[in-house]
Amino acid sequence: MDKDPQPVKKENVFINDVNERKSEKMKRTLLIVTVCVVAVMMCLSLTACGGSDAYVIYSDNAFAPFEFLDEETNEYVGIDMELLAAIAEDQGFEYEVLNEGFDASMGAVQSGQADAMIAGMTITEERAETFDFSEGYFEDGQILVAPEGSDITSWEDLSGKKLAVKSGTMGADYATANKDTYGYTLEVYEDSPTMYTAVSNGADAACVEDYNVICWAIEQGEVKLVTVGDIVNPAYYGFAVKKGENAELLEMFNAGLANIKASGQYDEILAKYGYGE
Ligand code: GLN
Repeated sequence: MDKDPQPVKKENVFINDVNERKSEKMKRTLLIVTVCVVAVMMCLSLTACGGSDAYVIYSDNAFAPFEFLDEETNEYVGIDMELLAAIAEDQGFEYEVLNEGFDASMGAVQSGQADAMIAGMTITEERAETFDFSEGYFEDGQILVAPEGSDITSWEDLSGKKLAVKSGTMGADYATANKDTYGYTLEVYEDSPTMYTAVSNGADAACVEDYNVICWAIEQGEVKLVTVGDIVNPAYYGFAVKKGENAELLEMFNAGLANIKASGQYDEILAKYGYGE
C-alpha cells in the first residue's frame, strides 16, 4: 500500500467543513433576505392604509355641497371634506375617508369599523344617546321637495301619495313621525341622488331633504325640483364618534375647528361653496 489515505481524509474533512460553512452562510443569508422582505411588505401595507395611526372616517357618498365626487379628479370634495382636511392639518392627525353613504356611516361608527363620521349629520338628543358630537359647524334643517309644477304645495297634499326619504336621516324621522297626520306612505332610498330621481320620474310624489343640499342640486341644474313650505327641525351638523370612544379625536376636532374659525380658514372654505361674504 503506497497510498496514504490521510491526505484524502484530511481533504474530505476540509471539503465537508467548507460545505457546511457554505450552507450555514446560505441559511443566514436566506434568513436575512426573508426578514428584509417581510419588513418591506409590512412597511408597504402600512403606507397603503395611510399609516397605522390613521383614523378611519366615514362619510356620505353624495351630499353636495358637503361631500361629493369631483368627476374630473375622481376625488371627494365639499365643505365636510375640506373642513376635515384643514382641522387634521391644524391638529396633526392622519386619517382616511371612506365615502360609503349616510346610514352606512352611522352603522360603521356604531360597529367600531369607523373611528368617526362627518356627513352633514344633524346633532340631535336621540343620536347623542349613541354618539358623541363635536361642536356644531353648520346649521340646516329639512324641507319638503316636489317636482316643478306639481300639485304638491303643502304636507297636506301628500295624502294617499308616496313620499321618498333617505335611510337613517332626520328627513326620514320627520316623515315617519308625521305619516299618520298627513296620510302618505314612505319609500326609503339609500342615497340622495336616487331619491331625487324617484321624485323626478314620478315614482314618488315628493321627498324630504336638507334645505341647503336640495338648494345646491337645484342651483346646479341637476334636478327640476322645488322646495315646498318651510324648513323643519333647524339644527347644527356635527362630527361624530361612537359614544364614549375616540374622545381624543373629538377633542382634536373641536380644537382644530376653533383654530380654523379664528384663522379665517373656516370662512374661506364656506365662501368657496357660496356661503357668507
Ligand atoms: N342632516 C341630515 C341628518 O343628519 C341628513 C344627513 C345626510 O343625508 N347626509 O339626518
